[in-house]
Amino acid sequence: MYSIMPLSKWKCVLCGEDVIEGQRFFYIPGKGYAHAECVYERLAEKGYSREVAALMDANEVLAYAIVRLKEAARIAGEGEVSKEITDARKKIEGLAAKLEKMLVDLVGGFEED
Ligand SMILES: [Zn+2]
Repeated sequence: MYSIMPLSKWKCVLCGEDVIEGQRFFYIPGKGYAHAECVYERLAEKGYSREVAALMDANEVLAYAIVRLKEAARIAGEGEVSKEITDARKKIEGLAAKLEKMLVDLVGGFEED
């Protein structure tokens, strides 16, 4: 087993602080990664619905998968296995973008501070 260590640290697009290993996060299309807490805070201001909660749950799973697959591709090295893992990651990124867009449309976007 190994822990997930991002190759480079991401800044939360909502608060500007680092998103570090072990923190829950979301991917916001066209913006980047954001702490789950920051996203929940924004959404709490706008009011939750069951659909919003469901999309956030789904998005979090996909964001986590994307990070894991990036790391797995890195571990696999340069060969066919790495390429297949990267292909899988890109497909999931496509799915995530679709659901993220639905979420953003539903809540009316995430304005930056
Ligand atoms: Zn944040």
